[in-house]
Amino acid sequence: MQLLSGPDLIIFADPQSAVGRFRGADPENLFADLEKIGIVNQIELDQSFRKITQTDVAKLSSASEEANYIAHQFRSAHLKEGVAWSQMAVILRSPGAQVSALQRAFAINNVPVEIDALALSLADNPAIKPILTIAQIALKQISLTPANWQEIEELLHSPFAGADAISIRQMRIALSKAEKLNQSVDAKTSTELILDALTSPSISIPWDQAAPLKRLNDLISVATKSLKNKGDISDLLWAIWSNATNYEGELLSQSWRSAALSGGTSGAIADANLDAVIQLFEVARRFTERMPGAKPALFINQLLGEKILSDAIAATAQRNEVVKVLTVHSAKGQEWQFVALAGMQEGVWPNLKQRGSLLGSERLVEIFRHGISNPQQLDAISASGLLEDEARLLNVASTRSTQKLLVTAVAQEDNEPSRYFTKFAGDEIEFTKSERSITQPALIAELRKILITAKSADDKEFAARALKTLSENGSYSADPSNWLGTLEQSDLRPVIDNGEQLRISPSYLESFDECAVKWMLERSGGRDSDSTAQVLGSAIHVLAAQFKENPDLTVDQLEERLKGAWSLIDMNKGWIKDYEYRRASKMLHKFFTWQANSKNKLIDVERSFEFELGAAKISGSIDRLELTAENKFYIVDLKTGQSAVSAENAKTNKQLQVYQLAVVENGFDPKLESNQVAGAELLFVGDQKAKSAAVRPQAEIDADQVRTELITSAAGMSAAVFTAKINDRCRSCALKSSCPIQPQGRRVIE
Ligand code: SF4
Repeated sequence: MQLLSGPDLIIFADPQSAVGRFRGADPENLFADLEKIGIVNQIELDQSFRKITQTDVAKLSSASEEANYIAHQFRSAHLKEGVAWSQMAVILRSPGAQVSALQRAFAINNVPVEIDALALSLADNPAIKPILTIAQIALKQISLTPANWQEIEELLHSPFAGADAISIRQMRIALSKAEKLNQSVDAKTSTELILDALTSPSISIPWDQAAPLKRLNDLISVATKSLKNKGDISDLLWAIWSNATNYEGELLSQSWRSAALSGGTSGAIADANLDAVIQLFEVARRFTERMPGAKPALFINQLLGEKILSDAIAATAQRNEVVKVLTVHSAKGQEWQFVALAGMQEGVWPNLKQRGSLLGSERLVEIFRHGISNPQQLDAISASGLLEDEARLLNVASTRSTQKLLVTAVAQEDNEPSRYFTKFAGDEIEFTKSERSITQPALIAELRKILITAKSADDKEFAARALKTLSENGSYSADPSNWLGTLEQSDLRPVIDNGEQLRISPSYLESFDECAVKWMLERSGGRDSDSTAQVLGSAIHVLAAQFKENPDLTVDQLEERLKGAWSLIDMNKGWIKDYEYRRASKMLHKFFTWQANSKNKLIDVERSFEFELGAAKISGSIDRLELTAENKFYIVDLKTGQSAVSAENAKTNKQLQVYQLAVVENGFDPKLESNQVAGAELLFVGDQKAKSAAVRPQAEIDADQVRTELITSAAGMSAAVFTAKINDRCRSCALKSSCPIQPQGRRVIE
């Protein structure tokens, strides 16, 4: 400055908006320092060109309600006042905090948003953060104490737990009531009870009243188990991700995949989530390659600590008509018509945590400036410096708006609004009520509700007229003829008319017994395309069948063939591809060992059969047809699923029973030499934890009994009515949204 100073030098400076001070620079003394070097003429520019005409405050009860409120206000300003999306911004004190909730809320409210890369690294991504938090709990990096409630609450709101503000309140009440009834000596707060439930094997209320806690409890437990088994970071992350389910009990990977394929706003979120998860595994793979044997904790620390753009998910391309979410530091020098200052919590904004640079140069500056070296005095000076820094940050943030400012905070048991919030809102501020989002789906839902529940005929008529107008203007879901459950049954006839022949495949008999609705819907096209697991299962069957042509096949040759065909089997990439390959190779090894020890003689593989029973034709093919030492036929059905059925269930397994009946009926072409059958077995090779194949035998059948049962099943399959039956597989049933006895499918009958 001294070198530059001269008559033509004009310096513009605003000490009140200095952020990100460099190595102890002191904005307060700026003008005094300039005077020292001879720059003396000072002109104060005191006219503000940003005239904030409206300042609103809102106190909400959770981070997600806060995010929804902001999204609602922005959408309202855009639709009602014509404020452009690019004229709105959310400013946060620190990167990471709040970003996930905001991203979700903006997507739900149809608000286009761009997250500043500095505000959202991979670790802050809404799909990744819960995985990392669960891993941190298992690693004991996050202790389950009220001090960490904010992180736990965020986790509870994530899709990995699926709780909302209401369900958390309900769980608090239920747990507290149970605690009172138990008359515990050391009564715990509801927060402590929730935290305890995350790792306890049992709690004082039934788990189905605390389903989100149960989901997290399960995930923390699988993560802990993976660490005990000395798994690497990929194993740990996979244990969490592959067991994560949504509130309907469906695997998250599946539900996000279906949502992504169905498009729309939620499809876009699901798509981005899946991208983020894939990127997480890719980063983990690179880490393991770079540092073999490194502990999972190191990876988590690195990921949480770094803000490297290569691992950031934020869009790198500039988009114009979007709302910005950014930190105060990034917001400096910019302005918008409508600005929201979010997350004004005690401990967050102002952030009074001591911080400094690696070499502590700020402290040197303080020693030099104040001429003292007493550590306590220096601490006091730096604490007051921090407060001044934070005040300047607040000044910068609150002056970014040219018209409208919204200040929001959350008030909870352990998470209070900060003194800065009180500065805007005063001491006595009520909770702000959240409003219905101003999107078309929300409006239609509201109108439908009025139509059904309103007492006054005028209200009903108003709702009906509004729906009609929307429908006439092209809104598909406003038209009652598109509402599920409002249509008459289209056909009351049985699915198989008299005289028509029903074809039965033995592999679907179990499925029909389990749930007739699922069987019917799948048979009518409600099946997903083959997953990698199904393609892999078929490939294992093909490789296992090669022993017919080549009984001397070695395990190495088998593995060679698997390797050769692998790129056709598995379309995944990177770490997931390696994982699936290891899984397939293990299955082949197990099958090889099992067949090498088999005492029976292999007669045929994939042997087709067909026979008639009453009005039904039963057809299928048997994986392995063998001959016992007693010259009786024996059937082996190879299974590649991850878990084996119990020995008890196998005794009455329908598929095996019908295979045995096929031998008794001799439904083969060419015919077998005899129709004597010795029994059958299910051979499970897909269980990753088991060292060898699991065999589940079934004794020789009573053919008459099986015939009678088959005729009964055939009658059920040809009927006009199919009954849904709750069973163990409902959890992963892809047809829940069409199932009349599941909450998400009730619309088909209501
Ligand atoms: S959710 Fe359960 S009861 Fe409903 S269709 Fe699926 S399997 Fe059947």
